[in-house]
Amino acid sequence: MTEFAPSNLAAIDAAHHIHPFSDMHKLNASGTRFISRGEGVHIWDSTGKKYLDAFAGLWCVNVGYGRTSIAEAAFRQMQELPYYNSFFGTTTPPATLLAQKIASHTGGRLSHVFFTNSGSEATDTWFRMARVYWKAVGHPLKTMVIARTNGYHGSTVAGASLGGMKWMHEQGNLPIAGVQHIGQPYWYAEGGDLTPEAFGLKVAQELEAKILDLGAENVAAFVAEPIQGAGGVIVPPSTYWPEIRRITEKYNILLVADEVITGFGRLGSWFGHQHFGFEPDLAPIAKGLSSGYLPIGGVMISERVAKVLIEEVGDFHHGFTYSGHPAAAVAALENLRIIEEEGLVERVRDDVGPYLVQALASLRDHELVGETPSVGLMGAVQITADKATRRRFDKPDDIGTQVRNHCLDNGLILRATGDRMLFSPPLIISRSEIDQTVETLRHALDALRDSRT
Ligand code: PLP
Repeated sequence: MTEFAPSNLAAIDAAHHIHPFSDMHKLNASGTRFISRGEGVHIWDSTGKKYLDAFAGLWCVNVGYGRTSIAEAAFRQMQELPYYNSFFGTTTPPATLLAQKIASHTGGRLSHVFFTNSGSEATDTWFRMARVYWKAVGHPLKTMVIARTNGYHGSTVAGASLGGMKWMHEQGNLPIAGVQHIGQPYWYAEGGDLTPEAFGLKVAQELEAKILDLGAENVAAFVAEPIQGAGGVIVPPSTYWPEIRRITEKYNILLVADEVITGFGRLGSWFGHQHFGFEPDLAPIAKGLSSGYLPIGGVMISERVAKVLIEEVGDFHHGFTYSGHPAAAVAALENLRIIEEEGLVERVRDDVGPYLVQALASLRDHELVGETPSVGLMGAVQITADKATRRRFDKPDDIGTQVRNHCLDNGLILRATGDRMLFSPPLIISRSEIDQTVETLRHALDALRDSRT
């Protein structure tokens, strides 16, 4: 066993480790936190402090921590065959069986899977695939991809370009050519006097305007998360997705549902598009596929696209050394077996999901709480400076950070995106753990209110 306990770990970290999405200057001054153990919905840091992880790591530990059967399955596979690839005419049994299993949860409509190691690689994969598809069917000019402001699709060059976060574009001269953005369905902040339904239609119709502007003959695909995650758990109004599907069909544009967060039970359905009742042409996945036990992602591919890839393209010149990695694939298979056997999707749909909706809604009597959108186990609490006008505080990031830090001090992990507090707990969270989460958040909101009066 490797020993991970030198007493000067923080100094080693500061000397050698650049963390993702972290202000390293500040972090090195304060010292990073080391997480050393997890069980169920809880994790412990290296000082022994226990936290309820209401964010499932990074939206990913769907079956919770401490599942020894996943570790054992990966261990056995590593002993038998730690690695082989799926390039040039071979594969391994776990990769094949995992593709079949994933397709089965789409009712076979997304019939094929291309494996990657992450959601970002899945983004790069469908991006190329969409262009390859259109060229193969005789529309080589269809190359542009439309995405949304404040969307998130990963950190690779294509991922960060498609993502709609300005502060990411500013680093690395992004977006790359061929990527365009339209608005997001964030009614609370941007809906003005419109009803949510009217606003949903309005922002969906931005897609039509953008397609007409670019020329449908130049547009390959539109991508969106069924519910925007990193952007703040932006749940679209009910009018949004039907209108988007109508538009992509009318102009013959591929619809890509980024299921990296919303896949594998998070919304109380196997996939987010099923919750909203539409069928995508391509759908990147990762996170809950293995509950984060080993890195694995992929792109689910509709029959329409798969048929062209197989019959017209033949060889898609794309792939990763670890595409379909056998140990990651068995970890994913065991993870999906647990989700099925324990009925976690149904549990989210019928039990803890509706319970979280109500628990978050109970915070609406708080003077700082605007809206509490929540579907399945993906929810948010919008902090507001004025409930009546939906006015926001001047420095939303500071507000969210203050509330998040208060929760952290009190043993609760939530994420803050600006002034929205985000929940995405493991699917095994109990009702009493949801109560505890909401109570801790209420105290943090009280502390915020008291600090401003
Ligand atoms: N797509 C969505 C919707 C995500 O939330 C993420 C990560 O949070 C990604 C893609 C990128 O996934 P990864 O971090 O595995 O590259």
